[in-house]
Amino acid sequence: MGKGKLLLRTNRCKGCELCISVCPKKILELDKIHVNSKGYHPIHITKPEECIGCASCALMCPDGVINVYTE
Ligand code: SF4
Ligand code: SF4
Repeated sequence: MGKGKLLLRTNRCKGCELCISVCPKKILELDKIHVNSKGYHPIHITKPEECIGCASCALMCPDGVINVYTE
């Protein structure tokens, strides 16, 4: 399985959780501590080393928050 690296533009995130629902590795969650410039708890990756670079999260996000790079 490949490895992926995420670029997260967290200030665009609306906290809709769509990306969380499609991640096969269950490594995305909302950052319950921080609030972004729009007033939402933004997306956060809990275990970046487990990302397989499938890009499901990026395809699902309606706001262009996520870019996935594969190695
Ligand atoms: S690229 Fe795939 S494995 Fe990595 S965070 Fe997104 S949905 Fe999860
Ligand atoms: S990154 Fe996109 S899909 Fe995920 S919670 Fe934020 S706005 Fe929703």
